[in-house]
Amino acid sequence: MFLGPPGAGKGTQARELAQQWGVPQIATGDMLREAVAAGTPLGRDARSYMDRGALVPDDVILALIAERLAKPDAKGGFVLDGFPRTIPQAEGLDRLLRDLGHELTRVIFFDVSEAELLRRLTGRRSCPNCQATYHVVSAPPRREGVCDRCGTALVQRADDSEATVRNRLQVYAQQTAPLLEHYRARGILTRVPAEGSIEQVREAVRDAAGAGR
Ligand code: AMP
Repeated sequence: MFLGPPGAGKGTQARELAQQWGVPQIATGDMLREAVAAGTPLGRDARSYMDRGALVPDDVILALIAERLAKPDAKGGFVLDGFPRTIPQAEGLDRLLRDLGHELTRVIFFDVSEAELLRRLTGRRSCPNCQATYHVVSAPPRREGVCDRCGTALVQRADDSEATVRNRLQVYAQQTAPLLEHYRARGILTRVPAEGSIEQVREAVRDAAGAGR
């Protein structure tokens, strides 16, 4: 499980590690954005929360995760990215894992200062097609505004504006940060300093994750 504030780099690292391990990356934010783009009832409901940087209600998220974890590709394990985000979600996850016969082996905390998070999030651009992410200053695409991987026009997420980012950081501090103690107490939490380059963080994540494999 990858735990940390928005903009800490969880998505980038989760995508790579999941690919290397041959397991799915399960990112509730990506799943919700897909539902919004497809205009499903879930997407219509979720959008009002997401646009203002609030959390989507726990029961909605837990139903989404229950369905996802039951799929055949999740049988051999998975990387959770951006879930759980509240104590009730963590408790719901425990119940689901117990029912499925899985065990949470490692929680990796991405530690980044608030100033760096603001810089990263407000300069972030992403590909609406393949989910690749860029930064206008520190990780620009080869051609401005175009995804290196699939050629799609890049977008700024609606919730990456400065006002919404501040709200998301506050929501993180209040509702998600308590999970650190929850998992530390279980002895499965590893902190990774996540302000370095993507390569440096990748190394630290691999070291931390290796302990659980
Ligand atoms: P993310 O891409 O992980 O930053 O998520 C984007 C937005 O989706 C968040 O600001 C929330 O509104 C919503 N979201 C994603 N994951 C969760 C979750 N586990 N619980 C509640 N809301 C979530």
